Amino acid sequence: MDIASLTIDQIKTGLTARKFSASELAIEALRFAESENPKTNAMLLFSRERALAAAKKVDDQISAGEPLGALAGVPIAVKDVISTKGIRTTCGSKLLEKYVPPYDATAVIRLEQAGGVIVGKANCDEFAMGSSNENSAYGPVRNPVALDRVPGGSSGGSAASVAQGTSVVSLGSDTGGSIRQPASFCGVVGVTPTYGRVSRYGLVAFASSLDHIGPFARNVRDAAILLGAIAGHDVHDATSASAPVPDYARLLDGNVKGMKIGLPKEYFKGLASETGDLIAKGVDVLKKLGCEVREVTLPTTDYAIACYYIICTAEASSNLARYDGVRYTTRSESSPTLIDMYRNTRGEGFGAECKRRIMLGTYVLSAGYYDAYYLKAQKVRALIARDFAQAFTEVDAIIAPVSPFPAFRLGEKLNDPMEMYLSDIYTITGDLAGIPCMSVPCGTTAAGLPVGMQILTKHFDESGMFRLAEAFEKAGGVS
Ligand code: GLN
Repeated sequence: MDIASLTIDQIKTGLTARKFSASELAIEALRFAESENPKTNAMLLFSRERALAAAKKVDDQISAGEPLGALAGVPIAVKDVISTKGIRTTCGSKLLEKYVPPYDATAVIRLEQAGGVIVGKANCDEFAMGSSNENSAYGPVRNPVALDRVPGGSSGGSAASVAQGTSVVSLGSDTGGSIRQPASFCGVVGVTPTYGRVSRYGLVAFASSLDHIGPFARNVRDAAILLGAIAGHDVHDATSASAPVPDYARLLDGNVKGMKIGLPKEYFKGLASETGDLIAKGVDVLKKLGCEVREVTLPTTDYAIACYYIICTAEASSNLARYDGVRYTTRSESSPTLIDMYRNTRGEGFGAECKRRIMLGTYVLSAGYYDAYYLKAQKVRALIARDFAQAFTEVDAIIAPVSPFPAFRLGEKLNDPMEMYLSDIYTITGDLAGIPCMSVPCGTTAAGLPVGMQILTKHFDESGMFRLAEAFEKAGGVS
């Protein structure tokens, strides 16, 4: 069994043909993961006991002849901003070094109900703030494709883990590109579903109106199966949608003939030339599959970065206020007064990026600046969403780059936060509009670095997005 290339279907076949048991698979997956992980630091901890208990349940179902869930026996990594009962959830922060959640996130419960085997928690940028996974208090993650490069962020550990083989699929979170960008950098599939499609209950909040949980996988079908297992209404999340969940994997019929594809002209400026060439080749593949390609315009794109960094910092400054040493966090004990305790806990605990965001967010929400920044940004957000709505009256899907450039070197952008922020230019718009979007591998540069192609569709049209991505993948993508 080649653990690093297994797919969900292969696991299902192996289990039902009794080639291996779920317990054997879990043991082998953990052995492989523990021995390989030091190369990348993708995983922060392994949840051996919980994994073996989940695997045993699957084996019991097999012996009893019971039907198996969609994720039966599948080794899964969970980003460390997603709560796991009894298992440390640090959010990549020193502040939560000892935090053990008393409950599971809904997505985690659903994974296990479908027979999934959670093997551990994946490294990430502190509170999911970053684009390179270098903001983790537990050390950066290295890209398994090129170890001197970043895996992208903030779900860098989740992406690297699937690429390296320390999990078969994983969960990440995306607020401004944190699933699609690392998927693109590591050469795997990454999906940001419609806002509200997957419950955020148990996802530690960064910017609540933008936060999404979504899958990473080695192929489109696995991502579709994983999303199907975790999607759907949840009484614990008032923003979760009640729309029925289609059987995404069953709807992958390869038929994209006549599908109308839009290329937003604003998304092809300032691209690294190799990235642009690969996306152009990707578009040619879609044309050969019978898609009709035309240009569309998303005129407010230029304002997206400013809009995002106002809204996300505003929400973050409020969401992170709870980490004051009273609950959850490691407390600074040597403080003479309560105020000092708050101050010292936060001062010592938060990393530089979180502090920067808290300060920016507090500023844009403060009296006198609220209207000029926060309120204005909300209006711009509505315009960005309107641009997409308008484009989707003309086309069924939009194709765009994920990132202007492939994986960069560790340390390369660390001292220039503006440069780091600009790398999210093509991904934050999808989050601001709340529409489904994904990254599908679209070839590699001459240096062997993966490049992802982004597909965006209308609200709740994950099926159309997956159908297009899978047809592209089956056609061989870009080689
Ligand atoms: N890179 C973006 C940021 O730093 C996106 C983060 C995310 O999607 N969680 O905010």
